[in-house]
Amino acid sequence: MLLVFLVAGVIWGLGALLQTPRRHRWIMLAGLYLVVLLEHFVLPDGHPIRDATGESPALWLLIGGFALLAAIYSRGIRWLKTRAQPTAASPVPEPARAGSFAEGELERYARHIVLREIGGPGQKRLRQSSVLVIGAGGLGSPALLYLAASGVGTIGVIDGDTVDDSNLQRQISHREEDIGTPKVFSAARAMTARNPFIAVKPYHRRLTEDIAEELFSEYDLVLDGTDNFDTRYLCNRAAAAVGVPLVSGALSQWEGQISVFDPATGAPCYECVFPKAPAPGLAPSCAEAGVLSPLPGVVGAMMAVEAVKLIAQAGDPLRGRMLIYDALYGETRQITLKPRPSCPVCKGGGRV
Ligand SMILES: [Zn+2]
Repeated sequence: MLLVFLVAGVIWGLGALLQTPRRHRWIMLAGLYLVVLLEHFVLPDGHPIRDATGESPALWLLIGGFALLAAIYSRGIRWLKTRAQPTAASPVPEPARAGSFAEGELERYARHIVLREIGGPGQKRLRQSSVLVIGAGGLGSPALLYLAASGVGTIGVIDGDTVDDSNLQRQISHREEDIGTPKVFSAARAMTARNPFIAVKPYHRRLTEDIAEELFSEYDLVLDGTDNFDTRYLCNRAAAAVGVPLVSGALSQWEGQISVFDPATGAPCYECVFPKAPAPGLAPSCAEAGVLSPLPGVVGAMMAVEAVKLIAQAGDPLRGRMLIYDALYGETRQITLKPRPSCPVCKGGGRV
């Protein structure tokens, strides 16, 4: 019997060492359990393997029963948590879009209000604004937290993924205990925990062509924090079609880039600058190439900076410019972006 536990320990330890997802390790343990149970039913009494694994199947059935109950209990708790999240994410003190500030809000945003470029009017614009963030991953996590902290009244977030062990190295909205929870609910919890005066709308699904334009038209601004080119082109098309500015961030290993695509103002769109997605393999994803933990924090926070500037009408947003940050050498540079008249999305800056 001790032998079985020893093998289970080795499976779990080796899995941890090889960074196998926890779920896969449980599946392997379940496999081991079934093998042990099977040999008790198949092999004759007194067989050396049966003797070595506890002689009778009764104890194993009892252990299996307890494990099953524990699994059902933990899944039930997780399910209840998932169900509870959207309610927790709804506005708490009062409707965020109401004109005046609630008690405690002025104190909260005091450091914004003393900034000449934001002030009371800018803070009010933030409160009345709505921002949609595509992806609650590396870029989305810090962007969402800062949008919430800044007092953006309504924040939508769309993502179809659930939190995984490998996300926690950089996706700071999510915690160890959120593993297995849909990312949008985990991010919504983090946002309302930071600022209860905002309304959060989590959409647990992928962004698809059939919903993009309708969804974007409900928001004043869209932040693109996705990691794949199909969704990036889709975001650009939908944002250009409904005339909403798009704050776009991207990462690779040690380098990040950020720009504001706003063809409605004559600035270029994403497709003006990147007419074609790179061939598969030429632009590996974070999972394939790796990414520095704080880098999405830098670029995601800069996306929130551009969002706040656009809403509060402060300074000069990164329209027609791309900022590139090279973390490895601590350098930044800027590229001027021009509208492309042959662009099928915006015809060279301007409404479609
Ligand atoms: Zn264009």
